[in-house]
Amino acid sequence: MTVQYHMSSHEGTYKRKFVAEVTSVFPGIIELDQTAFYHLGGGQPADTGSLTWDDGEGKVFDVRKKNRIRHMVDGDLPEVGSTIAGSIDWDRRYLHMRMHTSQHLVSAVVSEKYGSDTVGNQIGGDKSRIDFKPLKLSDSEINMLQDDVNEYINKDLKIDINEADRSDLENNPEIRSSMSSGLWKMLPSSVKRLRVISIGDIDVCPCAGTHVRSLAEIGSVEFVKKDNKGAEKQRLTYILND
Ligand SMILES: [Zn+2]
Repeated sequence: MTVQYHMSSHEGTYKRKFVAEVTSVFPGIIELDQTAFYHLGGGQPADTGSLTWDDGEGKVFDVRKKNRIRHMVDGDLPEVGSTIAGSIDWDRRYLHMRMHTSQHLVSAVVSEKYGSDTVGNQIGGDKSRIDFKPLKLSDSEINMLQDDVNEYINKDLKIDINEADRSDLENNPEIRSSMSSGLWKMLPSSVKRLRVISIGDIDVCPCAGTHVRSLAEIGSVEFVKKDNKGAEKQRLTYILND
């Protein structure tokens, strides 16, 4: 198991540089005992960056999780047991953090206002999108939604990283949550504890992604496109403004 800094704390999430030990090496792949790199998953792209050691360097172009975290690299490969310095492309990652927290917020507000589930999402640096079902908003309703979302951002609600019992979350109508976004429901039933991201008292959502500390870091959300996908599903695309 590779320790992933972002999982347990904001401090770990904001780590841009780190030192780790190489545990396995395969052609084009480096595995470490710990990492600040985020792996592809949950609609969020993997981090990019570099791993350097005494006499070499590998450029990390992708990160995948298959039991352990695999850093896919171009360049040299280190010896198992060597110490490496890792550095992630921070501007790119930070955008993904702001975008991902925005996704949770938008999903929460849409769930609250319209009772729609989030059935898909794709986080990007330039723009992100969320698929809702059932949903069919007009342009003026989207403008109102945007105002509601940005009103919450102005309140600068705090984001918390916690763990919760799955049984406490599932089928609990008391919890205000966008967690119908739930790919997490497809996790094996053996998984009893879930990492949850909370936004103030308005949302609780199981998620393994990277998030900012508070809503003000987002700036503001602007919806730039809506696509009706069949009779019931609507895709909303948004960008962030500083
Ligand atoms: Zn998430």
